[in-house]
Amino acid sequence: MNKHLEELIELSKIDQSIDSFEPKVKQAKTKLEQIENQESDVAKEIESLQEEIKDAELKKAKNDLHIQELTAKLDANKKKSAEAKTEKEIKALQLEEEIAREQLDFANEEIERLDKLIDTRKAEIEAKHSELEELKEQSAQIKEDVEKELVEIEKQKQELFEKKQKLVSKMSQKILAFYDKIRRWAKNSAVVPVRKQACMGCYMKINDKTYAEVIKGEEITTCPHCGRILYLEPQKEEANAE
Ligand SMILES: [Zn+2]
Repeated sequence: MNKHLEELIELSKIDQSIDSFEPKVKQAKTKLEQIENQESDVAKEIESLQEEIKDAELKKAKNDLHIQELTAKLDANKKKSAEAKTEKEIKALQLEEEIAREQLDFANEEIERLDKLIDTRKAEIEAKHSELEELKEQSAQIKEDVEKELVEIEKQKQELFEKKQKLVSKMSQKILAFYDKIRRWAKNSAVVPVRKQACMGCYMKINDKTYAEVIKGEEITTCPHCGRILYLEPQKEEANAE
């Protein structure tokens, strides 16, 4: 096979490997992001539960105040009743008392309800706190794993860069420029194999003349349809792989 073509095939494989790290890096980072998002969601839930408690405490305080006022009113009413002279006066005071007692009952019920609510929310917060602790442990582990993975990827990438550098340094500038020009639009499929007489870049069938050239491998042949560099893969012993 043409030496330039051999080099191009190797170069394109190195470039493919280098680029294949990108999704891996992204995936690793996404994993970390997901758990961090979960953490912040739980933290927000805790915050909103705490807000609810604060709100309930405020309402309780208002009801307490109201109870104090009503109690004072009932006391005053008692005194007035003792001094009341007419039946009309007495009836009016009785009515006032009734209303005040109803309000008192309502305020007490409300406080009871709020106490229950506060207890429930407190239990919920406790559960959320344990959930958060667990998530934090998980995310610390994931962070460690991801960092290790990224270091490993960086190492492998570096090795590939060095390999590429070595290869490129002995390649013809003209061939490299040609490759780069195709790579600009074809990305990782600048150099593609031919299978069943079809270009594996654009999947179109190539004519017999081009195919014969590809089989010979004496020159750098490009696909007549898309312009990618073509080569014939060495025959794999597929039977053995089965
Ligand atoms: Zn093609």
